[in-house]
Amino acid sequence: MTAINADSRRYDTQIHRRATRTVMVGEVPIGSDHPVAVQSMINEDTLDIAAAVAGIRRLADAGCEIVRVTTPSMAHAKAMGEIRSTLRAQGCKVPLVADVHHNGIRIALEVAKHVDKVRINPGLFVFDKPDPSRQDFSKEEFDAIGQRIKDDFRPLVELLKAENKALRIGVNHGSLAERMLFTHGDTPKGMVESAMEFVRICDELDFHNIVISMKASRAPVMLAAYRLMADTLDAEGFNYPLHLGVTEAGDGDYGRVKSTAGIATLLAEGLGDTIRVSLTEAPEKEIPVCFSILQALGLRKTMVEYVACPSCGRTLFNLEEVLNQVRNATAHLTGLDIAVMGCIVNGPGEMADADYGYVGKTPGVISLYRGRDEIRKVPEEEGVAALIQLIKDDGRWVEPA
Ligand code: SF4
Repeated sequence: MTAINADSRRYDTQIHRRATRTVMVGEVPIGSDHPVAVQSMINEDTLDIAAAVAGIRRLADAGCEIVRVTTPSMAHAKAMGEIRSTLRAQGCKVPLVADVHHNGIRIALEVAKHVDKVRINPGLFVFDKPDPSRQDFSKEEFDAIGQRIKDDFRPLVELLKAENKALRIGVNHGSLAERMLFTHGDTPKGMVESAMEFVRICDELDFHNIVISMKASRAPVMLAAYRLMADTLDAEGFNYPLHLGVTEAGDGDYGRVKSTAGIATLLAEGLGDTIRVSLTEAPEKEIPVCFSILQALGLRKTMVEYVACPSCGRTLFNLEEVLNQVRNATAHLTGLDIAVMGCIVNGPGEMADADYGYVGKTPGVISLYRGRDEIRKVPEEEGVAALIQLIKDDGRWVEPA
């Protein structure tokens, strides 16, 4: 009894998000007081200003709320100034994030002037080519590199703090620093310690606009790393938001399922304040997946929620066809829950809390429901039009844009 009560939040039908501070990325807040933000990354060359601007706008038009670009050189960092001013002149205000990698302090200091958030990878920020003949890493060597990181990182933190911009400490399982690999192994612990080294430096400098990621290409690894990260942050009194993602998830159905397995599992546990689904496809194809994950978990409502039975021997009409007709007619009514159920045997009970229901009554006859109440019976060929009329009569219809 007590064990169940102690864990009772796990049995709630609402997700309880880990309490995190608000970090502003441009005008978009990231943190547990705000909807989970959706982000992605363009794949155009940042030096091709027109292509990069077009890629960012395609993402923003698809609903992406934060867009990341890569800046591997100083020329790329400088190009971000023109990309930003072109976007703003076109009325596109989507916040921009710049990725910097190997020994990227000079690039980071330049690009920080032009973007809202800088992402650094702790494994690459101070980078020496790994030495395959090395047998161990002494504490002195470990600490000496730690000091180099502090010296390099400090000016970036001070600049971001002065400009009130944000930082992502973005660990990748595949690019942990050599000294972390020797000390902690290729493990979630190594990933967490890599991030914590940077978190503690930021704390010493009283800078807290931080978001943290722990990405890996295997869902079980990223799950373990994010959980350990959240516990470590909480134990040390830090409430920084988490950016969730599975790297190199691939494409197609499996890429979507794999990303969802990692991201949704953590979201359901209350972890995660911003997400990116990484697909080997056009970046704008990632956005509907993100919104579907959030909608399925009840974390955001960005589309109509359709409840439809899988159909069976009792089904009284062509369910797939009717579901498509209903969806085509009502997809713009964001916020509504609409059920399409094949029969009255299980349909009315299983469509649960839908606002409206379209249910097979008898062969050729449809029952329309409002909530749990049967409102009208109509011939099947009039079913979709009658459903629309019912929604209109209730004052809940809007014309499509
Ligand atoms: S609602 Fe009716 S038709 Fe649909 S799966 Fe259940 S029993 Fe079959």
